[in-house]
Amino acid sequence: MYRNGCVLTLLAGGLASIGAGCAPSPRAPLSAVEAAYEDTRFEKDQIDVTRARGAQSSRRGIALIDLVARYRAARERLTAALRDGAFAGLHAEDRRALDLIQRTLEKDLVEEKDDSATGAATAGGASAAVDCGYDPGPLSQGPDGMKTLSERMYACFGRAARHLSFEGQTLDRLTVFGLLPVTGEPERRKRLFLSMQPIWTAVNGDDGPNSPYRRLVRLSAAKMGADGKSVEAGAKDVGVDPAVVEEWLTSVLESWRSITPDREIEPWDFGYLAGQASRLLRAAITKDILRPVNDRYYKDLGADVGALGVQYDLEPREGKNPVAFTTFGARPRLRDGAWIAGEPWAFASYRIGSIDNLNELLHESGHAIHIAAIRARPAFEDWPDSDLFTEAIADIAALEMFEPEWQRKYLGAAVPLPDSLRAKYAGIVMDTAWALFEIRMHHSPESDPNQVWTDITRRYFRIRPHPELSWWAVRGQLIDLPGYMLNYAVGAILVADLRARARELHGAYAEGDTTWYPWVSERLYRFGLERPTRQVIEDFLGRPVAPRALLDDLARARDTSP
Ligand SMILES: [Zn+2]
Repeated sequence: MYRNGCVLTLLAGGLASIGAGCAPSPRAPLSAVEAAYEDTRFEKDQIDVTRARGAQSSRRGIALIDLVARYRAARERLTAALRDGAFAGLHAEDRRALDLIQRTLEKDLVEEKDDSATGAATAGGASAAVDCGYDPGPLSQGPDGMKTLSERMYACFGRAARHLSFEGQTLDRLTVFGLLPVTGEPERRKRLFLSMQPIWTAVNGDDGPNSPYRRLVRLSAAKMGADGKSVEAGAKDVGVDPAVVEEWLTSVLESWRSITPDREIEPWDFGYLAGQASRLLRAAITKDILRPVNDRYYKDLGADVGALGVQYDLEPREGKNPVAFTTFGARPRLRDGAWIAGEPWAFASYRIGSIDNLNELLHESGHAIHIAAIRARPAFEDWPDSDLFTEAIADIAALEMFEPEWQRKYLGAAVPLPDSLRAKYAGIVMDTAWALFEIRMHHSPESDPNQVWTDITRRYFRIRPHPELSWWAVRGQLIDLPGYMLNYAVGAILVADLRARARELHGAYAEGDTTWYPWVSERLYRFGLERPTRQVIEDFLGRPVAPRALLDDLARARDTSP
């Protein structure tokens, strides 16, 4: 989501001035191309967020139909500038900028055919009619077999996840996840957990060799093998040697094991046992405090979301994307030597307040203040080249919410540190278990996934074996992005390392510090695609990423346990 040796000054109006001599104005050979590119992206960003809001006109009052007309005109100018430009003898950086522009034009800045089609509505209608009684064998034949199978699985997964039956009610998957940590009665918790069976079946059928997931993982492993890739190689762009990835994951999981009681538990108990903080803070975290706490905390860090132009759409709505995300409604632009603020948009749907919803909102705001701070030429004004890094830096501030000082200041109530750390890490260690599961399934694609999952969860979570249940099959990423779970697992290691380094270099920030945002922006947020992620990380840390900071953080739960 960023210029060399330039000092940024963030002003109260959300604008930043930039030191003389370092303005990233596009160099002559690309100036026409880059100006047209900036305009095209602006219109596309406005179209995207207007649709995501389910609105007919932008926040600036431009009708969607007019946004599409403006986008087409800007895209025409970009195409013409690319066609008419003379690009021989470009410097390496200009060449990279040009390649990026061309690639983005092909991939993301596609032609807009009609003025109002909303992707979400179309996808919803299609999944209602989807045939989930299919045979994965024939469906996965041919060159596009993996994609076809994965799309069908995802549609069936989504349908099952929206229609779970529990005590005569229809619940969705996230509601079930939200209820498990607060359902005190073990038998009821078990029934709630087992209500997810239709999701497990949609993903893994009867767990036989022809199950949808077992076919998918064989195709995925074969594809990675043919491309010379692996699940672990996903960590290379942040400088982690693929050969150490599995060992890092197991060290995190062993550390979790060492801070949890030595007794066997059922799979439906895991969330409950880690949910003490969630239960204790239930009364303090109401829906009404989510925005005020979020805004106050970021303002205390020097990142006033209002002044930065951040927009929020947090109300549930029929047809709204169920996944929380943040995107550019407009990117920061350099005009006459001064930066004009962007318009980051954060989308989520909150019916209730909860520790998870607050955590998610602080995370989305973390993305928003990151993209508000990018200061790069138009070609590089984008998310960084690593999803893993992007997700990690959204949490640098957000994870302070698990510190008792933070809770006392912003919630007026704090839970004991061990409870808070178990709440913080329960999700992370589950993601780590899924990442390890995907690594092992891709190494041995003929394995029985239920058995692989049973081995992992018995060892690290002391969960009683249930190889008859495909209870691992509840994450969409396992289906549409095999190998993606590693981003969360290594991302947690990376963010712990970056957070520890930020405290070491700049000091604590759990109770606010208005110099924090300019300081972090200068070192981590401002580069966009200008610098490779690995360089940004290693310049900041002064060394490659290591798991020590996360292991030390987790160990604080043990040190203070009674
Ligand atoms: Zn995120």
